[in-house]
Amino acid sequence: MEKKKNEPSASRFYKIEDKKAVLSRRTCPKCGPGTFLAEHKDRFSCGKCGYTEFKTKVAEKTKD
Ligand SMILES: [Zn+2]
Repeated sequence: MEKKKNEPSASRFYKIEDKKAVLSRRTCPKCGPGTFLAEHKDRFSCGKCGYTEFKTKVAEKTKD
């Protein structure tokens, strides 16, 4: 099923993944639920206390 890379449905799937990532924004465990972590390419970080959380390499996205 990995051969379906060029199909439009595949890119649509990635869009959903991206949206999901945005919706489930990480909050800082140190500052509390009101503080969101800034999203970076491979990690999240808190601007208040500097807490950093690395993303798990589940969905590796390529920015084009
Ligand atoms: Zn924090």
